[in-house]
Amino acid sequence: MSQKTGIEVAEARRLVMDEAAPLGAEIVPTAQALGRVLAEPVVSGRTLPPADVSAMDGYAVRSADLIGADSDSSPELAVVYEVAAGGQGGAPLRAGQAARIFTGAPVPAGADTVVRQEDCELREDGVRILVRPPAGEHVRPAGEDVRAGDPVLAAGARIGPAEIGMLASLGRTLIHVHRRPQVAVISGGDELVEPDRDPSGGRIVSSNAYSLAAQCDEAGARADNLGIAGDTPDDLERLFRRGLYADVIVSSAGVSVGDHDHVRPVLDRLGCRLRFWGVRMKPGYPLAFGRIGESGPFVFGLPGNPVSAMVTFDQFVRPLLLRMGGHSACFRPVIEATLTEPLTKKPGRLHFVRVHLKRDGEGWTATSTGNQSSGVLRSMTLAHGLLVFPAEASELRAGTPVKVQVLDDTIFRETGPRA
Ligand code: AMP
Ligand code: MG
Repeated sequence: MSQKTGIEVAEARRLVMDEAAPLGAEIVPTAQALGRVLAEPVVSGRTLPPADVSAMDGYAVRSADLIGADSDSSPELAVVYEVAAGGQGGAPLRAGQAARIFTGAPVPAGADTVVRQEDCELREDGVRILVRPPAGEHVRPAGEDVRAGDPVLAAGARIGPAEIGMLASLGRTLIHVHRRPQVAVISGGDELVEPDRDPSGGRIVSSNAYSLAAQCDEAGARADNLGIAGDTPDDLERLFRRGLYADVIVSSAGVSVGDHDHVRPVLDRLGCRLRFWGVRMKPGYPLAFGRIGESGPFVFGLPGNPVSAMVTFDQFVRPLLLRMGGHSACFRPVIEATLTEPLTKKPGRLHFVRVHLKRDGEGWTATSTGNQSSGVLRSMTLAHGLLVFPAEASELRAGTPVKVQVLDDTIFRETGPRA
C-alpha cells in the first residue's frame, strides 16, 4: 500500500479504521470491568430466581382455598409455619393452610399465591384472607429473570453497572474482556520542557503529552508519557524505539516539512509504512499515520500545535483506540444546532470549529468559542463540540443548521430533574 498525501478527512478515517481490530482478551475481576467490552458470550449457568419467591410480606396460600369465597365469608386459614428470606418452607401446604412469608422467601410447596399482610386479618388461630387475588399474585416465579442455559450477554457488549450486577448474580466474578490498548506518547521539540521546569527563555511546556494522555484515558486506553525528544533524528529515533512495546505510538510535532521536522524520516528508518500524510482539515493538516512492520505498533505523527494535536487525536486516534478496545460505536455523537453568527473560510479544507453549545427550546445553538488559532488551547477548554464546516463550503450564514460533533456530553446533563 502506498502512502497517500493530502487526503480528505473521510478517507483518512476510513484508512485508519480499515486497520482497526479489537485486541485479544484478558481476564479481569468483574468488579473492575466497568466500561470494558466483553470478549466472550455469557451464558447463564443458573436459573434466577432459583425458586418461586415472594414479592411481598404476607401469607403464602393455595389459591384454590380462596375460590368461591366472597368477602362476607372470608376464608380463615391455619398458619402452619413461617418462612423468611434465606429460609426454607416446611411441609407442602395442604387445603386450608397458609404460611407466614416475607419478601424474598421461597414460596412453600403447595402454595401458589402470596397475599399481602395488609389484605389479611390475623386471628387467634389463623388468618382471614380479605381479598381474592388471581393465582400467582405476588410470586416471582423461578427463572423470571434468567434460566440456566439462556444467553445473557453477547460478546461485544459494553459492561455497565447492570451488566456487572448480572455477572455477579451469575457467579461470574472474573470475565474475559478486550485488552485496553497501550499507548506510548512522545513529544518532540528543542523548545519543550516538562511542566514542573522553568519555561523562561522562550521555552514552552509540553502540554500535548498531558492532553493526549488524558484523551487516551478517556478512550479506554492506557498511556505512558515517554517524554521529550530534542530536534535531532537520533534523539527522536531513540524515543520511538522505546515506544515499540506499545500498541499505538502517538507523537506530536515535527511532522511537517520544516528543517527540524524529523518524524517522517525517523519513521522511515524504523520500517514504518505510512498509509497517509496530510489531511485536508484545519486545524491539523500535517498528520501522518502508519504501522511499524506488519504487526508492530500503529503510529500517529500528530501536528504540534496544542489544538491541532487534540483535534486530530479526536478524529483519528480515538476511534482506533475504541475499536481496539472492542467497542463497536467509536465515533462522536453529532447533533444539529443553529449557528448564531456567520462563519467564513477559504474552500479546500474541512474546518473543525470549536463551539459553545446552548440549549434552545428543543434544539441547540452553536457559537464559536472565539479565536480559532491552533495554538489557542483555551478554544478547547471552552468548547462543547466541533462544528463541521465542510471542505468545499466558504460561508455559513447565521441561522443555518450546522452539524456539531459533541465533545462534552455533560451538556446533556440537567441541573435539576426535567422529567
Ligand atoms: P512543530 O510541529 O514542531 O512545528 O510544532 C508546532 C507548534 O506546536 C510549535 O509552536 C511548538 O512549540 C508547539 N508544540 C510542539 N510540541 C508541543 C507540545 N508537546 N506541547 C505544546 N506545544 C507543542
Ligand atoms: Mg518542532
